Amino acid sequence: MEPQIFAAKPADPKGPWDTIIIGSGPAGFSAAIYTTRGAASTLILGGEVWGGQLMLTTTVDNFPGFPNGIQGPKLMEDMRAQAERFGAEFKAVGVEAVDLSKKPFEVTAGGVTYLARSIIITTGAQTTWLDVPGVKELIGKGVSSCAPCDAPFFKDRKVAVVGGGDSAMEEASVLTKYASEVTIIHRREEFRASVAMQEKVKSDPKIKILWNTEVSEATGNGKLEKLVLKNNKTGETSELAVDGLFVAIGHKPASDIFAGQIETDEKGYVEHSMGHCGTSVKGVFVAGDVIDKKFKQAVVAAGMGCMAAMEVLGYLEEDK
Ligand code: NAP
Repeated sequence: MEPQIFAAKPADPKGPWDTIIIGSGPAGFSAAIYTTRGAASTLILGGEVWGGQLMLTTTVDNFPGFPNGIQGPKLMEDMRAQAERFGAEFKAVGVEAVDLSKKPFEVTAGGVTYLARSIIITTGAQTTWLDVPGVKELIGKGVSSCAPCDAPFFKDRKVAVVGGGDSAMEEASVLTKYASEVTIIHRREEFRASVAMQEKVKSDPKIKILWNTEVSEATGNGKLEKLVLKNNKTGETSELAVDGLFVAIGHKPASDIFAGQIETDEKGYVEHSMGHCGTSVKGVFVAGDVIDKKFKQAVVAAGMGCMAAMEVLGYLEEDK
């Protein structure tokens, strides 16, 4: 397709750019599609390993517009091409430092300092995986962190969920629509999830709960077959045959490079204005999993990217 360049690039590649987008998942590329089409010069600093969590996924069946599904990496390549078609400049470099006290803002990546009139943070979050033998090797082969994405693969199968927070309750509830049996494995004898979500899980006949239990190993020949469990009160070990393991023990938002310059909560999620994408620093906006504690879906991140971009375009008008 012929490029339709809407946003001219600055004469100096270091800027100032109208906006610099830090991160290159669905939030970042969606934001870039909107900022470029709004005639704002846009630099995406995408990270050395660009594309975010979908680059590690196989078939994505829940992103609208793809009735036969699409491979995660292909979806990200297409989003990148779409943003570039409208004039976004993309660099696969990691951001080392930001200085949000200066105007224009300074963003240093790959040893080069770029200048920005505005910034959109779309750095995402990383799943916390169980640090026990076999789990990392079996990701995508029975081990998952997203029931809304992968539950349909486990029709009439036995699955387990690890964790005791709201995410674990939600994963388990989603899985009951497909799996024949769902076992929640929790390391303590009470959940930290909200009472309503606990009650839903406890009253579901398809869900079994193993308290005071930890996974010590995941095994299988090319795909997950069983978990080795340990009761941390009695020391007793046992095995659980499962086809799926959904790890719901938390996420780590990628906000360390903004520490001390922008407000975050105690877990590192960037604070933002309710329903909007502004942050504690005027001219710095945020979208995607770095603020999303609840949904963590590509389509939600993409929607937030659009919101942040539209706020940036308004901000640039005011800031002329
Ligand atoms: P979370 O509340 O931090 O819960 C993590 C769970 O994983 C805890 O039960 C914890 O056990 C367990 N855990 C942590 N490390 C572990 C390990 N190494 N081995 C075994 N278990 C481990 O995380 P979350 O459930 O993802 O929720 C994050 C935030 O998002 C919360 O504020 C939550 O309310 C919110 N959220 C809301 C919704 C909703 O409203 N629908 C949905 C999802 C999430 P301990 O309890 O023993 O510490």
